[in-house]
Amino acid sequence: MSAEEQNVLDVLIVGAGPVGLAAGIEAKRSGLNYLIVEAGTLCQSLVEYPAGMRFFSPADDLAIGGYPLATPHDEKPTREIALNYYRKVAETEALKIATYERVVQLAKREPLFQAKAQSQLRQGCQATYLAANILLCTGVWGQPKRLNAPGADLPHVQTRWQEPLTYWRKRVLVVGSGNSAAEAAIRLCDAGAIVSLLVEVESLELGKFRPFILRELQMRLEEDKITLWLHSRVSEIQPGTVHIIVGDDPHEVETDFVILQLGMEADTSLLSPLGVEFNGEGKPLHDSVTFETCAQGVYVAGAISQEGFIFLGRDHVKKIMARLSAGKQSESANLNL
Ligand SMILES: Cc1cc2nc3c(=O)[nH]c(=O)nc-3n(C[C@H](O)[C@H](O)[C@H](O)COP(=O)(O)OP(=O)(O)OC[C@H]3O[C@@H](n4cnc5c(N)ncnc54)[C@H](O)[C@@H]3O)c2cc1C
Repeated sequence: MSAEEQNVLDVLIVGAGPVGLAAGIEAKRSGLNYLIVEAGTLCQSLVEYPAGMRFFSPADDLAIGGYPLATPHDEKPTREIALNYYRKVAETEALKIATYERVVQLAKREPLFQAKAQSQLRQGCQATYLAANILLCTGVWGQPKRLNAPGADLPHVQTRWQEPLTYWRKRVLVVGSGNSAAEAAIRLCDAGAIVSLLVEVESLELGKFRPFILRELQMRLEEDKITLWLHSRVSEIQPGTVHIIVGDDPHEVETDFVILQLGMEADTSLLSPLGVEFNGEGKPLHDSVTFETCAQGVYVAGAISQEGFIFLGRDHVKKIMARLSAGKQSESANLNL
């Protein structure tokens, strides 16, 4: 047996977001030999969220491992509170996490899986892991949907934003019909940017906005603080100008920055070679009770699965680890017969 094979993991967890961390806790509590491999730092997706971003879920729904998440006056947690909380949980549990290692390949090496991980700090440096099972908790944050229009790759066109002050007194066109677009428009407007919001739907009520975000947006629209382009699409982006079609009519919008908030899509590159199938939205198909994909021993949880909320993900990983632990116990019982 090679040195590698002596350290075969019961489960390799890919991604140290909230759900990957919850999975690590459950694996540890179930007596499984596990490792979490993370492409960035702990909760890299949350690190990249806008500064001061407030979650829409109550604190209890973001908590993992039974550790309470306290916020002043029971408010909904901000990005900063959540990051501090998840770090403390990871430290308290002494979770085994290899950070700055991106899993670039998963392959079946019967009866195990082999994962290759590329160091993000040392070029050309690769680690190989062997595991009986794989749990993918890679989220969708790394894969923003692109705009199919000329100029969409220009440097002033961004798919994410972090610090509102970056846009102070600059003309910003936010494109998107969901909460992230509305929130970007509101936050940048409040921080002194000159904001236009372009939505494809014919009225705001037809957009995918949570009621409290819609109310905040409507307040700024009534005060003429944000310009709204309804039933519109971008036809071309040039430096300084965005050409849009409103209904059937062409218009030009003078713009310094374009912020695209068109949603996210799952990265299928790790799972496709294993034979995993995907739904119309590109999310991996899996059993709704076991969370196993059609590739035996490959599981998905969290935002990469259809059930994106953290409170659902933490529940699903508990069930996955209980199943893996039961499987391990019955295997060793069989060996002892
Ligand atoms: C603005 C915003 C607000 C949100 N508010 C809420 C909310 O209020 N409540 C809620 O439940 N959800 C909310 N969500 C969704 C929430 O962020 C996700 O539910 C949560 O982050 C999912 O956790 P996860 O662990 O599945 O994925 P993520 O948090 O995205 O973590 C995935 C991790 O996997 C890593 N990774 C990806 N690919 C690889 C690879 N190949 N190798 C190694 N590591 C990899 C990433 O770096 C990342 O750290 C919000 C999302 C956004 C964008």
